[in-house]
Amino acid sequence: MNSQVGNRAVVLGGSMAGLLAARVLADAFAEVVIVDRDKLAGVTTARRGVPQGRHVHGLLARGQQILDELFPGFTAEAMASGIPTGDLGELRWFFNGLRLRPASTGLVCVSADRPVLESRVRARVVALPNVRLAEECDIVGLQTEPGGRRVTGARVQRRAAGSAEETLEADLVIDATGRGSRTPARLEELGYTKPAEESIKIDLTYTTRHYRLPDESILNGDLSINPVSTPSHQRGAFFSRVQNGESILSLTGVLGDAAPTDPAGFLDWVRSLPVPDVYEVIKDAEPLDDAVSFHYPASVRRRYDQLEEFPDRLLVLGDAACSFNPVYGQGMTVAAQEALVLSAHLRAGMPEPLVFLKDVAGVIEVPWQISAGSDLGFPQVEGPRSPEVQMMNAYMTLLQSAATRDGMVTRTFMRVAGLVDPPTELMSPDTIYRVLKNGTPPRPGSAVPAPAEAAR
Ligand SMILES: Cc1cc2nc3c(=O)[nH]c(=O)nc-3n(C[C@H](O)[C@H](O)[C@H](O)COP(=O)(O)OP(=O)(O)OC[C@H]3O[C@@H](n4cnc5c(N)ncnc54)[C@H](O)[C@@H]3O)c2cc1C
Repeated sequence: MNSQVGNRAVVLGGSMAGLLAARVLADAFAEVVIVDRDKLAGVTTARRGVPQGRHVHGLLARGQQILDELFPGFTAEAMASGIPTGDLGELRWFFNGLRLRPASTGLVCVSADRPVLESRVRARVVALPNVRLAEECDIVGLQTEPGGRRVTGARVQRRAAGSAEETLEADLVIDATGRGSRTPARLEELGYTKPAEESIKIDLTYTTRHYRLPDESILNGDLSINPVSTPSHQRGAFFSRVQNGESILSLTGVLGDAAPTDPAGFLDWVRSLPVPDVYEVIKDAEPLDDAVSFHYPASVRRRYDQLEEFPDRLLVLGDAACSFNPVYGQGMTVAAQEALVLSAHLRAGMPEPLVFLKDVAGVIEVPWQISAGSDLGFPQVEGPRSPEVQMMNAYMTLLQSAATRDGMVTRTFMRVAGLVDPPTELMSPDTIYRVLKNGTPPRPGSAVPAPAEAAR
């Protein structure tokens, strides 16, 4: 145990961002306390505080790599427990209704339900001798020094009847309470400016059901089938084999479209997908639960990095800082990248909040460009379309078309989308050559918007 930076760190929120932050805080604090309103220990099913946990959660390749770095043997243990894995480029991907040519990327896709993945991360974190869970405990507020310049702890209240409010003193407090974070409001109460928000409205609905397939050979060995929602083919889906011989299917409707939850309506919607593959696989499968839905109105980025003042000893990360359109599968991986930023700051001592928040913004920048930029490819999505965004969306449509013929393009695309390689790889001379050689521009009159049309 190493107590060089402080005695106690308190992490508000025990979901993926909070757990990964706790993992690196444990290297630098004598004690780390994770506070969450839910019961956490031993929970492997969806819980109230993380309602999105019922829906498909793809772990991007960079996230998988960081989990192995923070928890040596993580992927091997997951595989040994029966969680299926595969090469990210060899999944059955469809863009604009066409299948990408499979390609080996060397990147591992760990295919577990979200609560199962979270429970495996949690088990590794709570096994650390200096980490403690304060579960079934509401976060009520922050405690500060008089004048509010420095945070000194968190005010919490156990959910057990008759519990009184308590204060958890801390040398450092981390807000990992997700998209509903109260930090902007608390900043205002303390006399600070709250962060500006950038928002991209996508009006997305996930509708999800689990299945058991009578015979998995129908998948031809594929781990998942993903017709991704694009401007030309807006109905999307993620179907994956997961743990215990089960499969999960999330249907994704954008711009107000939503798959129904009743069995017949759900199946009809599956039939209306741009490709028949998912319907063929689930039509005779045994449903294991009723369909549930989750509405996601908009991606939201809070610009903490643009603030000039911020209380000392308070940091914000995870969805509390930025919530991305989930179809790009970025949230957990960005939380993992932010944990590495936190670790680097802790190696230099007590983090300076404004410097940390700027570094976190640096992590958010690329995935935000991917997520917000791609959403702006839908003509109906409101927002400013710079010439770069228009060019990139037109280029990506061509690249996805080229990837249906050239596996090297699939490989490059997946390594960038997996947040392993930088987006500049999409523009390398070799990739541009392959895209121009193999890509077919959308036919006039097809639903893929021409750049000028998208700009309106
Ligand atoms: C439908 C959907 C699908 C998604 N799919 C993917 C995907 O494929 N891949 C991916 O990487 N990401 C995906 N995400 C995003 C992912 O869920 C989050 O990015 C990830 O969970 C990290 O979020 P977080 O830990 O910051 O916050 P959250 O997961 O929202 O957790 C916040 C935690 O704080 C606790 N909490 C909040 N307020 C209080 C309070 N007042 N008192 C006590 N406890 C409190 C909650 O109980 C919860 O445990 C998806 C999101 C949605 C909505």
